[in-house]
Amino acid sequence: MKYDVIVVGGGTAGCAAAYMLGKFGKKVLIIEKQSYLGGSMTAALVTPMMKTSDNSINNEFKDDFIKNMKKYNAAITYSDGNSGWFNPEIAKIVLDEMMKAANVHVYFNTLIKSVNIVNKNIVSIGIDNICQNNKMLSLSIETKYIVDATGNCDVGVLSNCEFINTENELQPTTLRFLMSGVDLRAFSDWLKEFDKDRNVTTVADIDNQLHLSTAYTWDNDKNWALKPLFDKGVEDGIIEDEDRNYFQIFTVPGMNTTIAFNCPRVYFDRLINPLDLSDYSQAVQKGRASILRISNFCKKYFRGFESAYISNIADVLGIRVSRRIRGKYVYTIENLKSGKKFKNPVLISNYPVDVHSDKKDKSILDKSIVEYQLPVEALMANDIDNLFVVGRCISADFYAQAALRIIPSCFSMGVGVAKFLNNRI
Ligand SMILES: Cc1cc2nc3c(=O)[nH]c(=O)nc-3n(C[C@H](O)[C@H](O)[C@H](O)COP(=O)(O)OP(=O)(O)OC[C@H]3O[C@@H](n4cnc5c(N)ncnc54)[C@H](O)[C@@H]3O)c2cc1C
Repeated sequence: MKYDVIVVGGGTAGCAAAYMLGKFGKKVLIIEKQSYLGGSMTAALVTPMMKTSDNSINNEFKDDFIKNMKKYNAAITYSDGNSGWFNPEIAKIVLDEMMKAANVHVYFNTLIKSVNIVNKNIVSIGIDNICQNNKMLSLSIETKYIVDATGNCDVGVLSNCEFINTENELQPTTLRFLMSGVDLRAFSDWLKEFDKDRNVTTVADIDNQLHLSTAYTWDNDKNWALKPLFDKGVEDGIIEDEDRNYFQIFTVPGMNTTIAFNCPRVYFDRLINPLDLSDYSQAVQKGRASILRISNFCKKYFRGFESAYISNIADVLGIRVSRRIRGKYVYTIENLKSGKKFKNPVLISNYPVDVHSDKKDKSILDKSIVEYQLPVEALMANDIDNLFVVGRCISADFYAQAALRIIPSCFSMGVGVAKFLNNRI
């Protein structure tokens, strides 16, 4: 069995890379830990995509994904022009269909176990299928190139690659969830009244469905409209102080009574290390307890939520940052802020530096950023010649990664690598 490219991790960036390579006629295999594609978009319930620059490049995967999602009423273009509002459940189906159309092979419930390196090249990988009733099915598969799209850079670890020193460079994790049974009309009418100046609330009728978003944070400099309710929630013992660190909600296309929550942020008396098994497991449990409190809070204080219920809790913790590989180029915040131009950019974006914090008033959303480029060399492992890295674990410093990690940029990275490899295979 020999592939042109094996993509390890069929998530946000991995799907984009595999799909484009398949479209280019390459023989491609995805190795995916879950039993569905999409990664953070589906398993961590991260929706919608953030809006990015009008000058963005390598948009082919995003455009095809949205076009296919729209066939099932599973994506909308929001009133601010953001075309990236999507339904995470239908995304699983659409990504299956897209990989099939691009002739990409997919192995689900599969983990990469080993790499065989010859002359600084990975020539084959070993995999374990984790759904064989404890009888592990182990296979060895040959490849010309390998794309590490695991988010945590697992292929880089197996290949003994060097990483950027990431000590204390963490952000809070978030366990996202959905509530259904919401009377969206009643909620939006109430919300429009409650947040009269609409500083963080938007409501729009799109494709015959009501869509909205709103937010609240405990930061003192942001006196957002929902504050009195969160204060009361804490006072009444419905939520704990930490539960209101950050609260953000969106409607979901095609889910007429559902709200998606970009919260709770999860941390202990310190930020958790998402690569530490004990930290990770305790964080999931802590997140679920917080979800229960937040859902009770919404039912008690938000009109339209009276009959609402938790309908989905993310399968995995949302991780903003973990390991980052040392690439042929290490992209820095100075590169990003100066808008440095490169010969082979894989993405162009203007999304701000977005650092979430566990501390009051310490989160950063630096909107002074104008437009920046990321070079393909930041996606090339320094230590292994045929290893490319896409997604949140690329070769970038902490603050640059905090701008680069959004879904449309991960898509562009995948497409950019696919185009680069297309000329070489
Ligand atoms: C809480 C949170 C909220 C966010 N909000 C937004 C937002 O609103 N809009 C936006 O645009 N971006 C947002 N982001 C950023 C964005 O969602 C992520 O940075 C991006 O999706 C990461 O993509 P990725 O390809 O690096 O990883 P993922 O999409 O997570 O993909 C990694 C894939 O690899 C698989 N995998 C991992 N290890 C292995 C292994 N060893 N073997 C096989 N498979 C493996 C995983 O199962 C997964 O499918 C948010 C992120 C978080 C955490």
